[in-house]
Amino acid sequence: MSDKKALKRDTIATHAGRDPQRYGGLVNTPVFRGSTVLFPDVKTYEGRDPDDYKVIRYGIYGTPTTFALEEAVAELEGGHAAVALPSGLAAIVAALAAFAHTGAHLLVTDSVYWPTRNFCYRRLRALGVAIEYYDPAIGADIGRLIRPETTAVFCESPGSLTFDMQDIPAIAAVAHAKGVAVLADTTWGTPYFFRPFEHGVDISIHAGTKYIAGQWDVLMGIVVTNDQHWLRLRRAVADYGYCVSPDDCYLALRGLRTIGVRLRQQQQNAIAIARWLQARPEVLRVIYPALEGDPGHAIWKRDFSGAASLFGVVLKPASDRAVAALIDSLRLFGIGSSWGGFESLAIRTDPGKHRSATRWNPGGPLLRLHIGLEDPDDLIADLEQGLARLRQTG
Ligand SMILES: *Cc1c(COP(=O)(O)O)cnc(C)c1O
Repeated sequence: MSDKKALKRDTIATHAGRDPQRYGGLVNTPVFRGSTVLFPDVKTYEGRDPDDYKVIRYGIYGTPTTFALEEAVAELEGGHAAVALPSGLAAIVAALAAFAHTGAHLLVTDSVYWPTRNFCYRRLRALGVAIEYYDPAIGADIGRLIRPETTAVFCESPGSLTFDMQDIPAIAAVAHAKGVAVLADTTWGTPYFFRPFEHGVDISIHAGTKYIAGQWDVLMGIVVTNDQHWLRLRRAVADYGYCVSPDDCYLALRGLRTIGVRLRQQQQNAIAIARWLQARPEVLRVIYPALEGDPGHAIWKRDFSGAASLFGVVLKPASDRAVAALIDSLRLFGIGSSWGGFESLAIRTDPGKHRSATRWNPGGPLLRLHIGLEDPDDLIADLEQGLARLRQTG
């Protein structure tokens, strides 16, 4: 295909990272397993380019199966290149490590995924990296926090559990003017609903475990970068020795093929359920940027083409016991943390306790719902009996 830029995302998700005629006409790039790679002669062996990550030279740098997944995600998201990692957290670790050295200063959103904060606190700080948390709503004021030794601004929009939207283009404009890179955890946005490189992100980080794989049988991280930061990031991944199994790459790519239909349906189900919850007397508010009236709605509408099916529900004050009774009574919602698969989930969360730069108090118990591919009528009926249980438990 000559003009890939003109293709729409569903077409890219269907065709990217495939070359059937190369593999005997097979539609999917097969699982290629391999560690050592044999070279035809000494000259070729000794002439290997350590910075060419697109040729097969040792299993740790990938096989055609790995490259197929990486190419497909990079193309869908509109980035220069991608690298697969063994988990979403490993992807975050590698991306942060690429910008961390003793004396460096990193700016991290206060709404960040908790394990990212933990890595900064327990690991980066011990290496002499200064970590400063900033208000996710900071926008262009990020400039006031940038120091000569600042190497990167880490964003996550919407934020984990609190769903605050960040004005990434405003942050990026200021950061770039000062030579600072913008890293973003774009797991919620997915390569399908958010085009990070059009909004100033330099390095986009995904938990491929979530909607990319989409079936709850793979752990995967994927980092996509622009041209400028590719080698810096790819070398960091290589230096840490990260690699992923070709079987997992195969499964993640199989999931990616259907990301469009899954996400559109899950979004539709999630919006229906979020609106139904908004009208319930037991609910204080629903935190979901896709809803009109949400504080992040304007930014979401400007920067995203759709919404993941993950949102927060603030209940009116109720006892811990009553909230647990609600969740325990649900028959169709699993109790579990990792989202992005086909089944609905419900958990209770308390993100306020992890904030340090800002306060976050929702005014009542907070639930996080992930909406799957079940019929939304069945999910609503289940939630309705759950809310009755909440009232009865008192
Ligand atoms: C789940 C998640 C991750 C980590 O992904 P794992 O594959 O579970 O390590 C990173 N960022 C966000 C926002 C997540 O929700």
